[in-house]
Amino acid sequence: MPTDGKIETYGSGIAIDLKGKVALVTGSSSGLGMEIAKYLAKAGAKVAIHYHSEKQPADALADDINKNGGKAAVFGGDVSKLNEVTSIFNSIDSQLGPIDILVNNAGIDGKRELCGDDNPADWERVISINLLGPYYCSREAVKRMKKKGSGVIVNITSVHEFLPWSGYTAYCSAKAGLSMFTKTLAQEVSDFGIRVVSLAPGAIKTPINKDVWGNPETYKDLLTKIAMPRMGETSDVAKAVAFLVSDMSSYVTGTTLVVDGGMLLYPAFKHGG
Ligand code: NAD
Repeated sequence: MPTDGKIETYGSGIAIDLKGKVALVTGSSSGLGMEIAKYLAKAGAKVAIHYHSEKQPADALADDINKNGGKAAVFGGDVSKLNEVTSIFNSIDSQLGPIDILVNNAGIDGKRELCGDDNPADWERVISINLLGPYYCSREAVKRMKKKGSGVIVNITSVHEFLPWSGYTAYCSAKAGLSMFTKTLAQEVSDFGIRVVSLAPGAIKTPINKDVWGNPETYKDLLTKIAMPRMGETSDVAKAVAFLVSDMSSYVTGTTLVVDGGMLLYPAFKHGG
């Protein structure tokens, strides 16, 4: 049916199209970041693959994308160091062009330590990587996106922006802090065509939690904490990121999309009680 002079075709599918966009995914040499980078490249974005210490998998991913019709380049650096973040963004400007999409994915969960028995240096490290890192990257991104009058920032938080987790006060504080950073920044940049959102994964099978899913006892216990009968796959998160950075979510800003298979649904109540 013609609308506004345009001919609409029904039944041809609705695609996520990121052609012409430049995207940076921090920590994309492994786990969630690697899968997110692949999905954004599949959707047509030029992707800046970022690594901290493992260059080889980042190079392999970029080669795969470049050999198969996409465009990617590799950039190294520590997101907790302001000068390294600045130089990553300057290098991306010259090799791919200023970014349209930033996915703040790099993060660590840190050691399990109870407050008081812990080492403050470990706390500071988690906060530096998980909270200061996204802030440093976002401020560089915002400078560029304001000039373009558009852009999207996705902050990968965690169900632990909501759920306390004994032994991980630094991780939970960083992720809850990042969630409020998302909301406040979204408000600040809303007049510039820039959206800022958080994505909170539940338990997704990656190297970060191999100690849990690699052991049958702890894996069984983990499943009791998820309403759906499985751990998440990296693609579960990557698909949701592709939606959030595309025009399919053009009116979504300053909020968190939870991708957790129902971990926040109090699964212990699933069978009554
Ligand atoms: P991962 O260990 O595979 O990935 C973490 C990435 O962060 C790595 O590529 C690593 O190199 C990078 N990184 C670490 N320190 C860095 C630093 N100083 N500078 C730059 N990069 C650094 O684990 P993942 O599960 O893919 O984690 C990705 C993100 O997802 C993290 O922010 C994590 O907190 C979050 N998350 C993961 C899960 C899960 O179940 N896997 C759940 C909730 C949230």
